Amino acid sequence: MTTNVRRAVDAAPLVHEGDLPPARLFVGGKFLDSSSEQYTDVIDPCTERLIARIPDGTVEEVDEAVAAALAVKEEWARLVPKERSEVLHAIADRLADHADLLVRLEAANTGKPMSVAQDDVSSTIDTFRFMAGALRATTSLAAGDYAEDHLSVILREPLGVVGVVTPWNYPLLMAAWKLAPILAAGNTLVLKPSEQTPLTTLKLAELVADLLPPGVLNVVTGTGPVVGARLAEHPDVAMIALTGSVNSGRAVARTAAESLKRVHLELGGKAPVVIFEDADLKAAAAALRVASFWNSGQECGAACRILVHASVADRFVEELVREVGELVVGDPQSGEDVEVGPLVSKAHFDRVLGYLDRAQSAGARAVIGGGALEGTGYYVAPTVLVDVAEGSEITREEVFGPVVTVETFTDEDEAVRRANGVPVGLAASVWTESARRSHSVAARLDSGTVWVNSHLVLANEVPWGGFKGSGYGRDLSVYALDDYSRTKHVMHNHSR
Ligand code: NAD
Repeated sequence: MTTNVRRAVDAAPLVHEGDLPPARLFVGGKFLDSSSEQYTDVIDPCTERLIARIPDGTVEEVDEAVAAALAVKEEWARLVPKERSEVLHAIADRLADHADLLVRLEAANTGKPMSVAQDDVSSTIDTFRFMAGALRATTSLAAGDYAEDHLSVILREPLGVVGVVTPWNYPLLMAAWKLAPILAAGNTLVLKPSEQTPLTTLKLAELVADLLPPGVLNVVTGTGPVVGARLAEHPDVAMIALTGSVNSGRAVARTAAESLKRVHLELGGKAPVVIFEDADLKAAAAALRVASFWNSGQECGAACRILVHASVADRFVEELVREVGELVVGDPQSGEDVEVGPLVSKAHFDRVLGYLDRAQSAGARAVIGGGALEGTGYYVAPTVLVDVAEGSEITREEVFGPVVTVETFTDEDEAVRRANGVPVGLAASVWTESARRSHSVAARLDSGTVWVNSHLVLANEVPWGGFKGSGYGRDLSVYALDDYSRTKHVMHNHSR
């Protein structure tokens, strides 16, 4: 079976000079030139052409941004919920007014299909709207006498300045998942986007600059080991929140330990998909067409590790290969029906191909795909690997590309053991028609999210985050508001 590839020949560029954000740092409400002489090239992964050159900020520039955030932390924290809520609604409205531009910028910088970029932008707007509402409706322990003659009042306070580090797979959406609850909870922040995909974050800062007091939101572009590490280290930063790989999470947590600041980590995944013999195999295959290949599989919750009951494995693989064979691969301009784009960078493309080569040399067999697609751009064919050995590299490490592995099991205990047998635990799914199994297996899986007869469906009302090596802390929902707040107990002695 061959892959359906679509390329827009001689298409007009997705973005023009005037669409780009300033190639500068956003500090204290203004765009400033960086003193750095180092730049990172921002490349369109479809055309391999340069889009922009963005400065790599310095330690001193991080310190300036933290000082700006610190200077306004009380002013922002003092606003009553209604006032902060109105600002968040205004941000959502402003982003909605510029949704088309944000979609084009995101698609140009990441190569993702327009449908994925549109979903990112509409989800970003909804994140701000949800947090604007949720911040006015939080509850906690009622004030009351819990010790004789002493009235206890629980205050929920902002943490102060939060340092945020975001990845390249959903540049705008991951920024919003942090920004919205952090601002809603009354904190100020300094955000470092991925050096590869800073455009929509800088554009967001430009678009909302007049809606926030100067200094509440600051963006310092640059590398992880310089800008990210300084945020993790800075004594005036109360929390460092990072979405990224396990290694970056570990580096940040190690640095943060020095000042004992809080750490919030959304890290990698290797989501198992456990398909029992009673599952609706057609429905599972159709769902995985999306859940495994959305964003070219560059998705921390991607359904990448299929464990299917041996008695239905052949039938399931047949259904899956049919779905994968119908995927439309191409660049964002080649049609609204494109489902899979390129990988984000040459380095990541080489990394994914390395995994594919090693897996195939070790005996895995690609029933579809298996390597790069010809031509310009960092395209890898949607791939299904079978005959993979239990515990082999491809079944344990996060590939972060359009690649799924299929393994088989023979009983429920084995399925659970193997699903849990990796060091990360972000997401998982269980496919069964059995009511008992749909609960008991879901309860036994070590994953922050478990879907039953579904995979990769998210909503702002419900939490997202991992167990084990996938980190700790929750994005989305009121749980994120809790994570970005601190609890203070004030006790009044009222005895006479
Ligand atoms: P990455 O870890 O390479 O980079 C993420 C961010 O961390 C970047 O901004 C980078 O500059 C920064 N960074 C790197 N080293 C650092 C250091 N020493 N100190 C501070 N910051 C540092 O990850 P990536 O390749 O951009 O993104 C892909 C990874 O993100 C995958 O592992 C994916 O699973 C994970 N991810 C997780 C979630 C989630 O919700 N759990 C969501 C999206 C992505």
